[in-house]
Amino acid sequence: MRILIAEDDFTSRAMLTATLRKWGFETAAAQDGAEAWRMIRQPGAPKLILLDWNMPEMDGLEVIRRMRAEETEEPPYVILLTSKGEKESLVAGLNSGANDYIVKPYDAEELLARIRVGQRMVEMQTGLAQARRDLAYQAMHDVLTGVYNRRAIMEALNREIARTGRGGGPLAVGVGDIDHFKLVNDRYGHAVGDEILCAIVRRLENGLRAYDLLGRWGGEEFLILAPGCPVEEAYKLFDRLRASISAEPIPTKAGPIPVTISLGVAVGDGSQAGADLFAAADAAVYRAKDEGRNRVCLSVGTGPTDAGAA
Ligand code: GH3
Ligand code: MG
Ligand code: MG
Ligand code: MG
Repeated sequence: MRILIAEDDFTSRAMLTATLRKWGFETAAAQDGAEAWRMIRQPGAPKLILLDWNMPEMDGLEVIRRMRAEETEEPPYVILLTSKGEKESLVAGLNSGANDYIVKPYDAEELLARIRVGQRMVEMQTGLAQARRDLAYQAMHDVLTGVYNRRAIMEALNREIARTGRGGGPLAVGVGDIDHFKLVNDRYGHAVGDEILCAIVRRLENGLRAYDLLGRWGGEEFLILAPGCPVEEAYKLFDRLRASISAEPIPTKAGPIPVTISLGVAVGDGSQAGADLFAAADAAVYRAKDEGRNRVCLSVGTGPTDAGAA
């Protein structure tokens, strides 16, 4: 645990530093309020602060006011350390946003006990913030493959459509469906099927640009968004993805298994709703299946529809 000591008096600062280190804490030190404020705003700044009230440049109360004005998931825990012992000051200090208040000269045991309270609060807060981030991540990602789940990729589709509508260039939407995947499961079992799903995702990812988006729409179906990809490019992009999957059998614990995917693609210019673009791409997948699988079909109305590739 790192603690920031903000104290303008050299001797007090040195003594506090030595005491905290003896107790096993790491320390950082600021010699006035302005320096403390700068340090507090650095990434990875200490989350527990021993803050002197009277300091040049900026006093402790002003540091607290600025800190509390910031929107943050993990606000620092502040112990105001001051010679102002009267009740009015204590009330003003706590009302300004300090978490605790210690009057100088402090009693070492009491200081340590109060630091420990702060440490518990900071650790609890850090744990909660991490849990919140984990949940937010889980709500958006597919457990098996790690790519966006249906909800997240649908949100991305609507976001990208809006961007396209604002003049952000065309948006190519591809729906991919693994061919005869039920047979693979039936023959090799579900676990091998899962391995293949993950391998296919890795192959798709490798073929995409950094700003393309990939999500698992359902069981063995994927949604791919390629922003800025015009009709002329869309077929090439998705056929490259198709070929990257069929090129080599997928290594699994049951041995190498050849797998193919069929893709339907629709390209939007911002005038269509996300659901309509998706429906157009989805309809094109059915055509790709009808025409023999392992191929890309462009949606009727978004450019050349012939796309026999297998
Ligand atoms: P088609 O070429 O017409 O798409 O045939 P298909 O067999 O792929 O299509 P169908 O919709 O009949 O079957 C999809 C299969 O995908 C059925 C299901 O067992 C499998 N599947 C869906 N989700 C998962 C999953 O999470 N893991 C595994 N292993 N298989 C899955
Ligand atoms: Mg002072
Ligand atoms: Mg399917
Ligand atoms: Mg399928």
